[in-house]
Amino acid sequence: MKILSGAALFFFLIASNLQAFDRTPKESEGPVISVFRDVAAEQEIEKKFMAVPDPKLAEAHLRTLTQAPHIAGSPEDKATAEYVAGKFREAGLDTQIVEYKVWFNYPSEIHVDMTAPAGVEMHGPHPEHVDDDPFQDDPRIKPAYNAMSPSGDAEADVVYANYGSPEDFDKLKQMNVDVRGKIVIVRYGQNFRGVKAFVAQERGAAGVIIYSDPKDDGYYRGDAYPKGPWRPASGVQRGSIGYMFQFPGDPTTPGIASTPSLPDAKRIAPADSAQLPKIPVTPLSYADASPILEHLGGPPSPREWQGALPFTYHVGPGPAKVKMHLEQDYQFRSIWDVIGKIPGASSPNEWVVAGNHRDAWVYGAVDPNSGTASLLEAVHGIGELLKSGWKPKRTIVFGSWDAEEEGLMGSTEWGEDHAQDLANAAAYFNMDVAVSGKRFGASAVPSLKEFIREITRTVPSPQGGTVFDAWKKANQPREGSSHAQENSGSNSRMPASGLHTDVPVGDLGSGSDYTVFLQHLGVPSTDIGSTGDYGVYHSAFDNFAWFKKFGDPDFLYEQQMARVYGLEVLRMADADVLPYNYEDYAKEMLVYLDTARSKAQEKFGDKAPDFAAAIEGARHLQEAGAKILQKQRKIPQNPAQINAKLRDAERALLIPEGLPNRPWYHHAIYAPGQYTGYAAVVIPGVNEAIDRGDLRRTEEQVAVLAAALNRALIVLEQYR
Ligand SMILES: [Zn+2]
Repeated sequence: MKILSGAALFFFLIASNLQAFDRTPKESEGPVISVFRDVAAEQEIEKKFMAVPDPKLAEAHLRTLTQAPHIAGSPEDKATAEYVAGKFREAGLDTQIVEYKVWFNYPSEIHVDMTAPAGVEMHGPHPEHVDDDPFQDDPRIKPAYNAMSPSGDAEADVVYANYGSPEDFDKLKQMNVDVRGKIVIVRYGQNFRGVKAFVAQERGAAGVIIYSDPKDDGYYRGDAYPKGPWRPASGVQRGSIGYMFQFPGDPTTPGIASTPSLPDAKRIAPADSAQLPKIPVTPLSYADASPILEHLGGPPSPREWQGALPFTYHVGPGPAKVKMHLEQDYQFRSIWDVIGKIPGASSPNEWVVAGNHRDAWVYGAVDPNSGTASLLEAVHGIGELLKSGWKPKRTIVFGSWDAEEEGLMGSTEWGEDHAQDLANAAAYFNMDVAVSGKRFGASAVPSLKEFIREITRTVPSPQGGTVFDAWKKANQPREGSSHAQENSGSNSRMPASGLHTDVPVGDLGSGSDYTVFLQHLGVPSTDIGSTGDYGVYHSAFDNFAWFKKFGDPDFLYEQQMARVYGLEVLRMADADVLPYNYEDYAKEMLVYLDTARSKAQEKFGDKAPDFAAAIEGARHLQEAGAKILQKQRKIPQNPAQINAKLRDAERALLIPEGLPNRPWYHHAIYAPGQYTGYAAVVIPGVNEAIDRGDLRRTEEQVAVLAAALNRALIVLEQYR
């Protein structure tokens, strides 16, 4: 297969800063892969790989994986684990199904009833239903609910609080609307749903209803399913409200693995877990939420809080009154990760891990099994290489994670289980939603941003040209937009890092399985996906019929994503020298520091802490990064030592004692925001201390950050 046309390739080689290295590429050479001594041999391998991922097979995988609802811990989930394990074995991977026992709920009884005003009735939640969908009536579909909500009863007047952000609650306070003891109704979007629950709990609400407003993902955006891809009136977004910004995974085992043999004494009581919300929270469709909102009195809401339902939104409280009755069936349940390994020929202790979750709220055609189907075709391609006698230099580990939806449980428990092995890992590559449309996007640590761009220059796009061409084109009209991660919203505290503004690669916050690898263990990570108009997220309508009609009818984007994902794995596993760029990393840190310093000056005035040492540290790291890049380009005869330093530099950015109040999170540069959830907070210790207005903690955290930067600097400078 022809990988890339010569002229386009030549242009991109010049444009790329990691790629050209000390060779001048000739147009006829094809893609030069930056960190390989024998580029031609690697190109041969990649060419063979690229020919394998097959749209028809991806379609067959997706059809099988999504034939039944397969929520984590169910027999149908186990069946998908066996299907994936079978495919891993066919490809020649050393395969195991790994079980963990984790604490989470299924719904037993979920009732939301309107009890006032007189004459208005609503008994929800109603089952999801549209005129024509082949999957909607399966009796195994559970009523819509929020995982990690406690059981509980609440009956109170209702208050509307927009997206449920701290600013929204502040606004209500200014309007003299008291939320204490009330049931708060908020809409999905802008922030992680667990943040909505967390803020409502902090402000004293008795319960929370989260509904999907048609303005955010329904008819206001376009035709609703089945006519179009947007959310229909009865569509509900399920989802976990666990406080994953405290720590993800099993709520009873922060930092340790929930193996079936783990003694109970090592677990914390669920009631003591910082991850578990204290007030009842449940989701509704807009069909069910509409009568509640329509019967709110009090002042009209601020105009930007107005959704797309056909009446003026008021904030309440009351006269609409709601009674919530939630009975949750909490148990320790078995979940099943599927792990497939290919031992490395020369560096078996350096793992390259690639994972995707397999469990779904219902059928999960887009989320996550578009990713699983792609992953299986990437594995298929790598399997063909194995059969031809190829062996990777590093060990490749594929992970099919379970119970991601409840709280990143399968990946977190496995990561905690293998912390020792992962101390030497070269990278973690995540894919959650592989395809909901045609727009490629990526997030990564800055050291791997150029690595992703380089790979997309090698993979053809179904739109013609390369994935990189399509990516760049799609980014031209919409400045600054990056990975359209479902629900991530627009209140990220930092713009998508824009050193390369044509094709911005975003920062890793949370909301998918890279969290344990990057933020707990310091493994350089990436996350990729191809997204589009997708209003059926976490509903029964995210099924094969939707996908075939709106997602990727010919499975060509599935093929594209299998190729991009597989190339990430191949290049990282075979690279003579690890392709990290610490110069880019330090440049981004300088941007973060500059922004934080200005924010601190605004907040603290003359008393603002001195950022000089941290900024100096980042500048020196940038110089050291540039120097080691020269050495990476020369490809030392024995690269083991330079590779060890390159790996250790990322680990040096871990804070041994963790972030203040959430010690599971160790990374000095990235964490999920406590008040955003999905969106990354960069240099989180510092930024969150400033946001709290805590001067002493800001000073401490600036010093902690400077120390981390200096550790990374020393590691890189040790290499001569
Ligand atoms: Zn997902």
